[in-house]
Amino acid sequence: MTGTRFSWLETSGLLQAFAGMPARLWLVTGGAGFIGSHLVETLLHLGQRVRVLDNFATGYEHNLEAARAGQAQPAGDRFELIRGDIRDTATCEAACRGVDVVLHQAALGSVPRSIADPLTTNAVNVGGFLNMLNAARLAGASRFVYAASSSTYGDEPNLPKREDRIGNPLSPYAVTKLVDELYAAVFARTYGFVSIGLRYFNVFGPRQDPNGSYAAVIPKWAAAMIAGEEVVVNGDGLTSRDFCYVANAVQANLRAALAPDEFQNQVYNVAVGDRTTLLELLDLLRDALGRHQITWPKAPVFAAPRPGDVRHSLADISKARVLGYQPTHRLADGIGESVAWYVDSLRGQRLASGELR
Ligand code: NAD
Repeated sequence: MTGTRFSWLETSGLLQAFAGMPARLWLVTGGAGFIGSHLVETLLHLGQRVRVLDNFATGYEHNLEAARAGQAQPAGDRFELIRGDIRDTATCEAACRGVDVVLHQAALGSVPRSIADPLTTNAVNVGGFLNMLNAARLAGASRFVYAASSSTYGDEPNLPKREDRIGNPLSPYAVTKLVDELYAAVFARTYGFVSIGLRYFNVFGPRQDPNGSYAAVIPKWAAAMIAGEEVVVNGDGLTSRDFCYVANAVQANLRAALAPDEFQNQVYNVAVGDRTTLLELLDLLRDALGRHQITWPKAPVFAAPRPGDVRHSLADISKARVLGYQPTHRLADGIGESVAWYVDSLRGQRLASGELR
């Protein structure tokens, strides 16, 4: 994020909330990933001390480099990286030493990945989660905020999704995220160690990986359209999602970390509260690319719906609003910023590979 892209910190009141607050030590697990690297970048911008724990399973060095670059004050010794795996208890304990706040993002995302390999997804998302929760408790961390998921709503048919009404999970991934919530609640009851779970709804933005078979829809389509390739729509295109720009997810994490005790031991939806179909999304991407003189004149290719995917998703965000959460970016704003980033970075990659001169 550049200087102006941090302006949401001011409009949301978070800049003021952090002003004059002594710097704390934040552990961001999965900090080399998409959402994690935005948390790192924002915390460094706010003058905080940040430790990252990541095994680079799906994260990248270049995400951390981007998070540290462009800081007005060089991060210097305010930034520390531990290369390690959350499946290893000793690593989690070492990472939590002296930490004030844990923002636990490390996990294996993707419903299809969990269907292909449920054992690894479970080992990381449940075993690793439990390691982190326990290590944070033993280390006396004052706040533990973790990435939960809208997939927990499963086959619950009612819209908008409210935190207190969930259905049956539709994938191994959804089970892991539900189990995390159950462990978090049990740690509050058993040990008095409270936490906050943020049920993210389709987060997107710069640095979300467009590559690989488990890429999310927005980066995958943006990259395909920039390359002039075909776009595959799973289902009839009327599947809908509550797409959430990454700055909103960062805001929710900071709100949760600053929230007083009475708001702990809860889960909160993190979204915008708008529903967009895949075909509407395609149009938005096409328009945004047009502003960069990139035209994509094709029609999408329709394929079978993906197993484990829910048909419609829309969040009720009134509970998170009580934390002070107020989305600063609607879908079109976020698409504009994301497309600008994908155009720049994919052009950069093609320049570096000698494909463009
Ligand atoms: P990401 O894949 O970009 O980031 C995950 C990070 O965790 C990566 O850097 C990866 O290397 C790291 N990691 C994975 N396994 C690890 C392990 N065993 N030990 C240490 N580090 C490990 O994904 P993201 O989109 O940034 O997702 C962050 C979190 O948010 C995840 O918990 C994900 O389940 C959750 N979530 C994301 C979305 C979304 O739309 N992006 C939606 C719901 C929930």
